[in-house]
Amino acid sequence: MSKKTETSCSFCGRPRSQVEMLIAGLSGHICESCISQGYTIVQEEFKDSKDKKTASAAAPVNLLKPTEINEKLGEYVIGQEDAKKVLSVAVYNHYKRLHHPAQKDEVDIEKANVILVGRTGTGKTLLAKTIARLLNVPFCIADATVLTEAGYVGEDVESILSRLLQAADYNVEAAQQGIVFIDEIDKIARKSDNPSITRDVSGEGVQQALLKLLEGSIVNVPPQGGRKHPDQKMIQVDTKNILFVCGGAFDGIEKIIARRVNRQTIGFSSADEVRIDGDNFLKYINPTDVKTFGLIPELIGRFPSLTYLEPLDEKSLKRILTEPKNALIKQYVRLFELDGVQLSFDAGVLDFIVEKAIEFKLGARGLRTICEGILNDAMYNLPSQDIKEFKVTAEYAKEQFSKSKVAQLKVA
Ligand code: ADP
Repeated sequence: MSKKTETSCSFCGRPRSQVEMLIAGLSGHICESCISQGYTIVQEEFKDSKDKKTASAAAPVNLLKPTEINEKLGEYVIGQEDAKKVLSVAVYNHYKRLHHPAQKDEVDIEKANVILVGRTGTGKTLLAKTIARLLNVPFCIADATVLTEAGYVGEDVESILSRLLQAADYNVEAAQQGIVFIDEIDKIARKSDNPSITRDVSGEGVQQALLKLLEGSIVNVPPQGGRKHPDQKMIQVDTKNILFVCGGAFDGIEKIIARRVNRQTIGFSSADEVRIDGDNFLKYINPTDVKTFGLIPELIGRFPSLTYLEPLDEKSLKRILTEPKNALIKQYVRLFELDGVQLSFDAGVLDFIVEKAIEFKLGARGLRTICEGILNDAMYNLPSQDIKEFKVTAEYAKEQFSKSKVAQLKVA
């Protein structure tokens, strides 16, 4: 057979002798590698058009009434009644506004971003996260301490939106209705109350940069975050309907509040004396205190809702252990149950766990570490033993805890 007459692939031109297989069509042939390449192209095309379709449709937000939001929050968050109420209203108004965009000449309802002030581990993140889950909207957490002004080492504020896009599976429309929780917002406070002294990179500059996001503008977002890939395509995100919830401990703000409250109450006659709860000044917090602390007025103006979280006392910590839908104790009972073991606790054990969380200043976050210390041996040994029931007594808990890392921390 001469070379000229040898059959070849009509796509890549390779002759029969150089391919594994040639499939004949009506007016030509195709080899196995062109089939495989063609298949990949088809798959990618289909994926792209499917992505585009899903990107244009955000999942519906579950619009619950404020009382319903509050009630549902109660299934996960113990106490913090004032914060739950303020947040429920803010969130409801936010999504109501989103469902009823202002027509011409109608009142334009402004966005209700929220600031939560309270010690670490009191439930600020939990509140924001739970709301996002209830409403079925994308949610992300950003840490204000790593943010810097554009052009400095650190993360640009736009990286926050990259994270939200990721949480929304790159569905831009869904991300545009999401909730962003910015933690440690107090750490970008101006160090001095006098704005003219310095412009600090980590403080006021970042606050200014954040304003752009909060104002409701179209922001160019690098899909992967950061400036490490200069030629990546930017995604445009409109922040108009993104709800920003900020949290911070605002260490020392109680003194600022106390000073203001005391000043305001001086001059009242004893007849109209106002009863001040000196143990919890946070409940009197208002925007001027946050301004004195070092947030710029423009930024505070973007957060019409300001509320506080109470420190968690023994009673609340005990409830946190057992009451929420996914309470720690319920989780351990389930873990043991999966091994066919019925786990139970003597009454004193929960008190002991709470006592240690307070003693070691671990708050609610420490409850898990303490439980792990107590139950680790049992979780290690029981799966290979034939035991159907395991009761944690106070003595057992104390003994196991004394061997745990947390207990040793104190000795050191
Ligand atoms: P922060 O106020 O620092 O944002 P988190 O919300 O992250 O605190 O709380 C840390 C953990 O402690 C939560 O995951 C949750 O398990 C528990 N926790 C804190 N506060 C509460 C609360 N009020 N109700 C229920 N669990 C809580």
